[in-house]
Amino acid sequence: MRLVLLSPPGGGKGTQAKRLMKRYSVVQISTGDILRQEVQEGTEIGRQAASLMEKGELVGDSVIIEIIRRRLEKEDTKNGFILDGFPRTIAQAGSLKKMLEEMNLPLNGVISLEVSDETIIRRLGGRRICRDCGLEYHLEFKPPKSSGRCDKCGGDLYLRDDDREGVISRRLKVYREETALLVDYYQREGLLYRMDGEGEIDKVFEEIINKLG
Ligand code: ADP
Ligand code: ADP
Ligand code: ZN
Repeated sequence: MRLVLLSPPGGGKGTQAKRLMKRYSVVQISTGDILRQEVQEGTEIGRQAASLMEKGELVGDSVIIEIIRRRLEKEDTKNGFILDGFPRTIAQAGSLKKMLEEMNLPLNGVISLEVSDETIIRRLGGRRICRDCGLEYHLEFKPPKSSGRCDKCGGDLYLRDDDREGVISRRLKVYREETALLVDYYQREGLLYRMDGEGEIDKVFEEIINKLG
């Protein structure tokens, strides 16, 4: 299974990607996660990306495309992959198409998770991540058993810098101006599955599985 997950920030891409990854025994490829890792390790890419990410701007297409090219070359993508947060621009989608054609690995589909602006703001404001194991929580929708602590490892839960109010509005604007164009793009490619992303996590997952067959 080779899929792209498309949604505004907080639409549920990461949450659904983790479930789909298990279901289809494929890898999740999140450009956001890869970039945050680069920032943490202080690499050249990380240094370039950090200030853009903090402001809610997109990282340059050439950097992102190179990250994906290298990631797709790894052996573990043979069984398939879930692209989470990539592509985000028409240029990225065009490069992906070329890459996958060369590798003879066409996409099975693009899942577009549709959510309202109110939902986005509630989801991002309440998102918390474990500093130690990376597990994700939500204060309202997926709360940890003990406040501020990870259920799995006891690690400290934190709010992403770019999940703060001022940055969320910028990310939404960037989504509307750049990434939303991909809905039409993939519709024309005949790959788009439009999904209501507002329901509960398990319900959205079921609907995706039903659509994919
Ligand atoms: P979310 O899933 O909440 O929208 P991500 O974790 O996917 O956020 O991305 C965090 C940030 O990383 C983005 O705001 C952007 O700065 C950068 N980023 C991630 N993926 C891409 C991409 N494909 N193109 C450009 N920038 C990206
Ligand atoms: P994205 O990767 O698109 O930015 P996430 O999957 O990280 O989005 O979800 C953002 C936040 O919303 C997380 O805290 C997650 O636990 C929560 N969340 C995701 N899907 C749902 C849902 N269907 N209902 C309620 N909360 C959700
Ligand atoms: Zn943890």
